[in-house]
Amino acid sequence: MYSKFKLDRRDLLKGAALSIGTVGTLSACDQQQVAPKPASAKTKKPGIIGLDGRRVLPWSNWSGNQKSQPTLKKVPRSEAELVDLIKGAKQSIRCVGAGHSFSPLVPTDETLISLARLRGISNVDKVSKQVDIQAGTLLSKIGEPLWDKGLGLINMPDIDTQSLAGAIATSTHGTGNHLGSMSSDVVALELLDSNGEKHRCSAEQNSDLFYAACNNLGVLGVVTKVRMQAREKYLLKEESYVLRSSEAFEYAEQLRDDNRHFELFPFPHGDYIVVLLINETTEKAQGTTQLNIEQGEERDEAFRQVVKWTDAMPWLKSWIINMGLNSVEESVRIDRSYGIFGNLRNMRFNEMEYSVPAEKGLECVKEVMAKIAELNIDVVFPLELRYIKGDDVWLSPFYQRDSCSISCHNFQGRDYKNYFAAVEPIFWKYSGRPHWGKIHTLNADSLAKLYPKWQNFKDVRQQMDSRNLFLNKHLNALFVS
Ligand SMILES: Cc1cc2nc3c(=O)[nH]c(=O)nc-3n(C[C@H](O)[C@H](O)[C@H](O)COP(=O)(O)OP(=O)(O)OC[C@H]3O[C@@H](n4cnc5c(N)ncnc54)[C@H](O)[C@@H]3O)c2cc1C
Repeated sequence: MYSKFKLDRRDLLKGAALSIGTVGTLSACDQQQVAPKPASAKTKKPGIIGLDGRRVLPWSNWSGNQKSQPTLKKVPRSEAELVDLIKGAKQSIRCVGAGHSFSPLVPTDETLISLARLRGISNVDKVSKQVDIQAGTLLSKIGEPLWDKGLGLINMPDIDTQSLAGAIATSTHGTGNHLGSMSSDVVALELLDSNGEKHRCSAEQNSDLFYAACNNLGVLGVVTKVRMQAREKYLLKEESYVLRSSEAFEYAEQLRDDNRHFELFPFPHGDYIVVLLINETTEKAQGTTQLNIEQGEERDEAFRQVVKWTDAMPWLKSWIINMGLNSVEESVRIDRSYGIFGNLRNMRFNEMEYSVPAEKGLECVKEVMAKIAELNIDVVFPLELRYIKGDDVWLSPFYQRDSCSISCHNFQGRDYKNYFAAVEPIFWKYSGRPHWGKIHTLNADSLAKLYPKWQNFKDVRQQMDSRNLFLNKHLNALFVS
């Protein structure tokens, strides 16, 4: 078997930010971001007075690469209020969850609706282990109440700050050879069409709507409730360590098959890869395992140092990154399932992700790494490789295909466009399907070729939104014009 890389050098980059829990946390290295300049009175833009006579602040997504100026922002207090809003709509509506999508799914200069007041778990069936959850509920608010009922979600992404409806809308996923995306754990949905009419759907009832709605991009209407398949509650043990790249790739498929969750973080310009394994355990939970603020800041600072040094001495980039990885300690965490999945992300980044056929994943990621090296692309942020089980959701990137997702990131404030443009064609070569919530440049024609049910989805969209209410420029170009 392989030998774990030496992890005892703590002098350089103490607590290096390259450890698993911080791969995303350590993203935005820009100092400007840490200490933003206060807007002077002169440069401060006045808010826009919206259609309802109130001041409307601009909207921006999590990473700041998507911005818009809605003329109306609404946060309905009840479903009845939401229905009235839809029925009385005089301009287009986009729903926003937690604003964690990097692609232009949400931006609108017309009406923006949030379901932030329609949250909570409304019903738990302990026999079927199915739970009804209000669409606006944040993933971070699901784990504990379910635990109290003896249940847990089957799988989750690597953060828990998204809303449930937002996560479902884009087939948000975690990793696990035998585990699907969150959309594949949906049992039934309720949504309002552009006339304010409520539709219920499941695999048995309105099945076309169901297979469309489980990855709906917010273009079929407003989702109000989601029934999720859960399971009995469980503890997880997460282990992470560093391997030489050659060994990590050699043993990747074995590790994938032998562990409930498996993930790789290959470092551009580096010779090592961080490996993450998560499995069920009966060992005692260690309590809160999330990084506390102080640890997070220490790690952020360590990573800023790496980036600062690679900026200052680009000819030593590989050496600095390898030394940083050399200081990463092997780590073990045990916690309730939801405590392990939900990582902190204090610092910001932009991301592109494609899913390729599972058996092509390693070949594809090696090609991406080679391209980064060949063009000497200025990136320190690791790639991320995960496995997801295929499903039957029409616009799921995992539609009828066991998949390997590969993500490329760069820190907020640093160039990501040239980086992504250089590697995106590699994903196309492998018939990659982009994550709907992340950056990509595919148009309707290219996407239609990747999705056998593209036209079926468009037909359902037309039925649900005959008024073309739930569109913005980006989605109009994909599904209408
Ligand atoms: C730090 C970070 C980490 C991430 N990690 C992962 C990960 O591990 N795995 C992964 O797959 N993705 C990941 N993502 C991507 C993210 O999970 C998806 O983009 C997700 O869709 C965002 O959910 P949200 O609640 O923020 O929704 P938003 O981004 O606000 O909206 C997404 C879509 O949902 C629609 N929508 C929201 N609410 C409703 C509603 N009630 N009815 C109808 N439509 C609605 C919106 O209109 C939009 O089309 C990550 C993103 C970030 C920023």
